[in-house]
Amino acid sequence: MSTSLSDRLTAELSGLRESGLLIHPRVLDSASRARTRVDGREVVNLASNNYLGFADHPALKARAAEYLERWGVGAGAVRTIAGTLRIHEEFESQLAAFKHTGSALVLHSGFTTNQGVLGALLRDGDLVVSDELNHASIIDGLRLTKATKKVYKHADPDDLERLLKEHDTDGLKLVVTDGVFSMDGDVAPLDRLVEVARRHGAVTYVDDAHGSGVMGESGRGTVHHFGFEYADDVIQVGTLSKAWGGVGGYAAGHGDLRQLLINRARPYLFSTAQAPATVGALSAALDEVQRDPTLMARLWDNTRYFKAELQGLGFDIFGSTTPITPVIFGEAPAAFEASRLLFERGVFAVGLGFPTVPRGLARIRNIVTAEHTRDDLDHALQAYAEVGRKLSIIS
Ligand SMILES: *Cc1c(COP(=O)(O)O)cnc(C)c1O
Repeated sequence: MSTSLSDRLTAELSGLRESGLLIHPRVLDSASRARTRVDGREVVNLASNNYLGFADHPALKARAAEYLERWGVGAGAVRTIAGTLRIHEEFESQLAAFKHTGSALVLHSGFTTNQGVLGALLRDGDLVVSDELNHASIIDGLRLTKATKKVYKHADPDDLERLLKEHDTDGLKLVVTDGVFSMDGDVAPLDRLVEVARRHGAVTYVDDAHGSGVMGESGRGTVHHFGFEYADDVIQVGTLSKAWGGVGGYAAGHGDLRQLLINRARPYLFSTAQAPATVGALSAALDEVQRDPTLMARLWDNTRYFKAELQGLGFDIFGSTTPITPVIFGEAPAAFEASRLLFERGVFAVGLGFPTVPRGLARIRNIVTAEHTRDDLDHALQAYAEVGRKLSIIS
C-alpha cells in the first residue's frame, strides 16, 4: 500500500516536533524597521538583514512607486522572451558600474543566483572547492552540477591549497566562499584565498550576500574591500534582498559572464523577470548609499558599540567582526529560552541551533543596522544583561 499524504505529513511534523526543531515564525505587524511591532508587541528588531534601513526607506519607496505607476506591477514574461524592460537593463548597468565589474546580471533572489550561476558555469571534469560553512544555496547550486566537489576547512587557505593540489584537472577550477559568513559574522580571508586560487589557475567565486551594502566603500562588498573588484578571475554573486532592501540576486564580474548567464542560467531562462517596483527600489538604494555616507558610518558605529558592550558584559560573540553578532548560549534550548526572555523584554532576536549551527554553539544571531539609535541598542543591551544573568551565561 502506498503512503497517504496525511501519514507523510504527520510523520515528518512529529519528527520535527520531537527534536524541538519545528519552526513557528514570528509575524511582523508593521514594516521591517529597527523598532517594529512583532506578534502585537513593540520591539527593538535585531533579527533582520536590513543593514542600511532600506526596507522601509522613503527614497526607495518613492522610486518604487514611480516605477510601479509607469511600468506596472509585473514584467509580463521571462527576461529572454518579452520580460526585459528598459529599467532592468538600466539597473544592471548601474550595478556593474557601482561594483566596478565588466558586467552584472540580476536574478530573482540570492538563492536562485547560486543555482543559476553554478549550474550554468560548471561541467563534468571541473573542480569546485567550497568552504565548509558556505550557505545552503551554494550547496544546493553545486548539487545541480556534475563537477567534482571538495570541501575545505572553514576560511583555511592551506586546506584549500591541499585540495587544489590533490584534485588537479584540465577543467575549470572554482573556489567558492561566502564573503561574510551568515552565522558567525566573520569575513573570508579573500586576499589569501585568491592568492592560492591563482597559484592553481582557479577562479574565485564569492557569495557576498551579507557583504553587499556592508563591506567596502559605499557597501560595494567584500571583494571591493580586498581590492579585487576589477579582476576577471573573481566572480561576485550576492543578494539584493538584504542590505539593498528589496528582493533579488546578482552576478557580477568578467565582461562575458552576463551573456553566458542570459543563455544558460535556468532560473533566468524559466522564471518571470523582477517586478518594476522592486527594480525602482533597488536603483534608488544604490543612489542613496552613495549620496548619504552617514548610512554606512552609522551601521559601523552601531556595530562597534554593540559588540564592545556585549563583550564588556561578558558574552562570547565568537570573534565576529561585522554587523552579524552571534551571542553563544551553548545548547539549542538555552538559545531558544534566551530569545523568548529577550522578547518579553521588548527585544526581537532569534535563537539558532543545530542543524543551522554546530551542536554546542547554539546562539542568538543579532544584526545591527544603520537605523538603530543608541537608545535602541542600550535597551537591547539592558535586556541582554538581565537574560544572560538569569540563564547564568554571564555573572
Ligand atoms: C541570504 C543568503 C542568500 C539568499 O539570498 P536571498 O536573496 O534571500 O535568496 C544566499 N547566499 C548567502 C550567503 C546568504 O546569506
